[in-house]
Amino acid sequence: MDSKKYIDVAEENLLHTYNRYQIVMEKGEGVYLYDTDGKKYLDFGAGIAVFAFGYGNKYYNESVKNQVDKLIHTSNYFYNVPATFAAKRLVKLSGLDRIFFTNSGTEAIEGAIKLARKYAYLKDGCTDHEIIAMHHSFHGRSMGALSVTGNAKYQEAFKPLIGGVKFAEYNNIDSVKALVNEKTCAIILEPVQGEGGIYPAKAEFLTELRALCDEKDILLIFDEIQCGMGRTGKMFAWENYGVKPDVMTLAKALGCGVPVGAFLAKQSVAEALVPGDHGTTYGGNPLACAAIEAVLDLFEKENVLENVKHVGTYMAKCFDELVSEKEYITSHRGIGLMQGLVFDEKIDLGKLIGKVIDKGLIVFSAGGNVMRFVPPLIITEKDVDDMMTILKASLKEMESEM
Ligand SMILES: *Cc1c(COP(=O)(O)O)cnc(C)c1O
Repeated sequence: MDSKKYIDVAEENLLHTYNRYQIVMEKGEGVYLYDTDGKKYLDFGAGIAVFAFGYGNKYYNESVKNQVDKLIHTSNYFYNVPATFAAKRLVKLSGLDRIFFTNSGTEAIEGAIKLARKYAYLKDGCTDHEIIAMHHSFHGRSMGALSVTGNAKYQEAFKPLIGGVKFAEYNNIDSVKALVNEKTCAIILEPVQGEGGIYPAKAEFLTELRALCDEKDILLIFDEIQCGMGRTGKMFAWENYGVKPDVMTLAKALGCGVPVGAFLAKQSVAEALVPGDHGTTYGGNPLACAAIEAVLDLFEKENVLENVKHVGTYMAKCFDELVSEKEYITSHRGIGLMQGLVFDEKIDLGKLIGKVIDKGLIVFSAGGNVMRFVPPLIITEKDVDDMMTILKASLKEMESEM
């Protein structure tokens, strides 16, 4: 069957919620993806910041396969071995005290929101608590997560959303302070905004948020779903800032392909949720947690954080040069292997990315006109050189049509 046939069948049957590239991916190997026509793509999207260790990692695949043969699922009526160790290791890595496993990022956010509300409820018995979120944030598509996502386009048709959510300007402490009142129970943000356009927080902003939250007993929730798990050169992005949250959400690279998520909290907060308050059928099942354990093993084995810092610095240097050469690329932003090139509004980024992918390089967009680079964390300088070659060829082609 050629790819056109697969696409026709898919389009006949799937809900049309994505405008997909006309490509059917078939297999992956290292930093490359291959489509059903055998065409090879250098992947600087990594399944949206998921495949930290690339495709077909032997150790990861074997670990998951072994668990498939042992036990895939039980229920949360019982304990299971992989969840026990995955929990212990993530608690230790984060310096937080307790973890709840979910199946996705958006569910991790739902859990964090419920935890914040319950924590506040136990303090004052009120049921009208407020959450402050940021403009240009992205926290997921389920109703709670959508309610704290600062993007009117995603929200509009789905109103009414959950109540009591206010939006502040990212990196503007005064705009946050202006929204705080006695009902505020949590402030939620990404230490590096992903979908919103790769905006790293300013150190001062996070430090001031921490002080504000401490002063008013407001929970500081960091959404590390995209920027966490080594992407910025630290296990969690907040470690770059030395500002620790009360609650943290994880997903994406946590499972490196097996769908998982989690939220963690410090003890005094975590104990607000008691039996009956929250649950999930699949969350924390043995298969998912075996995947998490394999991911954590790989972080220990492969010195990947050093690689992120090293290759991230190299990629930033290449982008700096490009920004100085091309007047239609206005700047670049990011930390480690989470970077974005900001294009002038007159550039049709969708069309440009189509060209880039056609030439065998996968990148995604973010925010308004930002080309997003979130490659596997194991890439080399050579991979960055190859990426730049394809990117420059695509820019040249675009220039010739301008
Ligand atoms: C992707 C993402 C989510 C949502 O995760 P899903 O697994 O798609 O539900 C939430 N927050 C951030 C920062 C993300 O990048």
